[in-house]
Amino acid sequence: MSQLRESLLDLVRRTSTELPADVTSALDTGRALEAQGSAGAYAMQVINDNIGLAQTACQPLCQDTGSILFFVHGPRGLDQTAFRAAAEEAVVLATEKGWLRQNSVDSITGANSGNNLGPGFPYIHFEQWEQEQIDVRLMLKGGGCENVGGQYSLPDARIGAGRDLDGVRKCVLDATLQAQGKGCGPGILGVCVGGDRATGYAESKHQLLRRLDDHHPDPHLDELELSLVDDANRLGIGPMGFGGRTTLLGVKIGVLNRLPASFFVSVSYMCWAFRRQGVLLGADHQIGEWLY
Ligand code: SF4
Repeated sequence: MSQLRESLLDLVRRTSTELPADVTSALDTGRALEAQGSAGAYAMQVINDNIGLAQTACQPLCQDTGSILFFVHGPRGLDQTAFRAAAEEAVVLATEKGWLRQNSVDSITGANSGNNLGPGFPYIHFEQWEQEQIDVRLMLKGGGCENVGGQYSLPDARIGAGRDLDGVRKCVLDATLQAQGKGCGPGILGVCVGGDRATGYAESKHQLLRRLDDHHPDPHLDELELSLVDDANRLGIGPMGFGGRTTLLGVKIGVLNRLPASFFVSVSYMCWAFRRQGVLLGADHQIGEWLY
């Protein structure tokens, strides 16, 4: 087995079966906040038990192992064709080992490829950077949470949202309300203000690569991210929509320039099974560091 394929296979395994520490820490905080004996506390305990079992048994955290999204920063000269081939081989092997469900379906015929390959599967986003290592991040995003994302074109009369940060706030809270009881909360929202319909959604997913405990460098957006989590957690939706104090674990907001005529707010909803992990690979393609 090539070293690159072996390292990527290890990345897939760990992403599918273990939650990163920033996510488990946020879930622990939420579990402690739920009232003893409440449905919310019960849901958080089931989630906690599920996380422990998956890690011990090295089995997927959720039966829906989701879309397979790689985000790669590589040095000048990285052979993207070879990287894609190694990633596809790792995905096929991970599917055979049961770390990924057979999830790639022809959109017209409904035929399942059986090995998680196909147009758009896996998705790999490449960027060049000025370092020698390869930074590979992987996100597995299930269908239930993907279905409840949303995109708003402001102004939006339905929710009274204008083209300003208060309008953005209204979009995020509306998206949270629309997702209640769906998408397996508590959720994490990746948000993009601006861009076009495609780049807005792409950037909202990129925001989900940020650690939950980081801070936005813009103090206004940092305040907005933190206050949106507080406001959402006062809605009473709670874990799995059962009621309670933990509706969102985080909101991460990115901003892209937009056309004067457009003002999109794009929201990607991630469920509690927030499967994202990353590695730094050296020139020998060995894993030098786990990133979350
Ligand atoms: S939304 Fe998340 S936890 Fe719920 S079924 Fe889908 S992947 Fe699993």
